[in-house]
Amino acid sequence: MGQKIQAIRGMNDILPQQTPYWHKLEAILRQLMAAYGYNEIRMPIVEKTQLFKRAVGEVTDIVEKEMYTFDDRNGDSLSLRPEGTASCVRAGIEHGLLYNQEQRLWYMGPMFRHERPQKGRYRQFHQLGVETFGIATPDVDAELILLTARLWKALGIDDSVVLELNSLGSNEARANYRDALVEFLSPLKEQLDEDSQKRLQTNPLRILDSKNPEVQQLVADAPKLADYLDTESVEHFARLRQILDANGIVYKVNQKLVRGLDYYNRTVFEWVTDKLGAQGTICAGGRYDGLTEQLGGHATCASGFAMGIERIVALMEEIAPIEISDADLYLVAIGEDAEISAIQVAEQLRTELPQLRVRNNFGGGNFKKQFKRADKSGAQLALVIGEQEVKDKQVGVKFLREHKEQLMVSQSDLIETIKQILNL
Ligand code: ATP
Ligand code: MG
Repeated sequence: MGQKIQAIRGMNDILPQQTPYWHKLEAILRQLMAAYGYNEIRMPIVEKTQLFKRAVGEVTDIVEKEMYTFDDRNGDSLSLRPEGTASCVRAGIEHGLLYNQEQRLWYMGPMFRHERPQKGRYRQFHQLGVETFGIATPDVDAELILLTARLWKALGIDDSVVLELNSLGSNEARANYRDALVEFLSPLKEQLDEDSQKRLQTNPLRILDSKNPEVQQLVADAPKLADYLDTESVEHFARLRQILDANGIVYKVNQKLVRGLDYYNRTVFEWVTDKLGAQGTICAGGRYDGLTEQLGGHATCASGFAMGIERIVALMEEIAPIEISDADLYLVAIGEDAEISAIQVAEQLRTELPQLRVRNNFGGGNFKKQFKRADKSGAQLALVIGEQEVKDKQVGVKFLREHKEQLMVSQSDLIETIKQILNL
């Protein structure tokens, strides 16, 4: 036997017991996006490294230590995408989708970050990304939140998530606040941990959301971002809250919510759960009015979010499990003629009732063995064909999940009978 080759650490196979959750989530997402009038866009998984350096920021965790970067055969530096917003903006500029118009876009697919693998944190993971362009007003920020709230309801996980909200203000307000924060923290530098000391130079706002309790205590008395907001941002935030209140969305304003990426301004938000341990953020986003210009396009307002599909699937498994089965109908056939007849019957069922999942018993086996397989498949009904049934053009219908007498129906009545039994 050759040596086994294993998957790359942090890159997961999604197994057949899990794909029903993905299918459910994906189907609801597609419908939801359409219901709000958003269009799908698909971007490549690999981009020039420069794109992420410029969009996400040179001194962010993602660019500093999490990117899968390599040289192409012609020497260009490329990276597997660590997130989708940069690619989406790049594509929008490249194809003239953003200038002087509105766009409401979404995409779904794998992202790659070289992080320490643990529950809810992987090296290949999947995101749904939603991005809007050309709308400056807070109504669209509110809509992004409303549509996510609707999703949690549809998935049955709405009781397990809470919304946190903050405003980062204009770039200028943020820069002023940054100076004030650095001034406050600099004399305390020695008391900060190594990460925060580094961030004091590179990305001081991130110190606010440090998980280290000692650092948290130090920043408790730091100047407050809310006191530095510009008037327009204050109004924008108030209007956003007014729309959310009017729609019954409950949220907590978290002044320390700053997000890890460089490009946000004004609104930022996160949906968080306490059911998944440390990796509790399932969806995060905000406004990024400056990014398009930063990437060489015309100045374009933008607002969006990304959600972590693995974390949402984990929450569904925990809170709203779905019953998983391989089939709705299982055909049991005893004898060579019956085996052929069962294949014909199954084909006819698939033509007439395409919404059902129909499995044939293959490889023979006695009644007992075949019924065991039928039961294991999770099917509601076993359809039984033996030599006699072939002669009489009949099918036995056996209830696998209810205590009911087996029926004998003619092949010509089979479709109607199944429709009645399964309420189709
Ligand atoms: P975190 O604070 O958990 O590292 P982040 O701020 O890096 O998250 P974003 O870049 O905002 O995350 O990505 C949006 C969402 O994608 C996150 O809220 C999370 O649900 C998911 N996500 C991010 N990184 C990973 C990962 N390595 N594995 C699985 N899901 C992830
Ligand atoms: Mg991260």
